Amino acid sequence: MININVNNIYTETVLGMMKLGRRKIISIVNENFDRLFTLAEKEVLRHNMERADRYVELARKIGMRYNVPIPAKYKRRFCKHCCSYLLPGVNARVRTGKSKVIIFCENCKKYMRIPFIREVKERRKTRGVRGK
Ligand SMILES: [Zn+2]
Repeated sequence: MININVNNIYTETVLGMMKLGRRKIISIVNENFDRLFTLAEKEVLRHNMERADRYVELARKIGMRYNVPIPAKYKRRFCKHCCSYLLPGVNARVRTGKSKVIIFCENCKKYMRIPFIREVKERRKTRGVRGK
């Protein structure tokens, strides 16, 4: 049973972080990203799009509040224009082309282009130098 009051996650986080160091804050914020995006995914699979969007909004707010960027792995999970949670095949279409992932949001009918040059480079690196 998931019955977490999303408003509480936010306020608790804000109050609890007042006295913490920067590094600790980043790790807590990242934990919150993990939690919120996991919850958002569950809601989307139950077709509760509004709740999923709410989790995305919350994640963005927390990130902005503490100046912690949303990790790349989550960035392509929501629309940067309308902030709705994107699930390929449900409300998003994903294509690749010219070293970019092109995501089309069915909600606001806009495109996001995310270069995956970094992934290509990283793969090369891990293949080349092992254990570094
Ligand atoms: Zn959108």
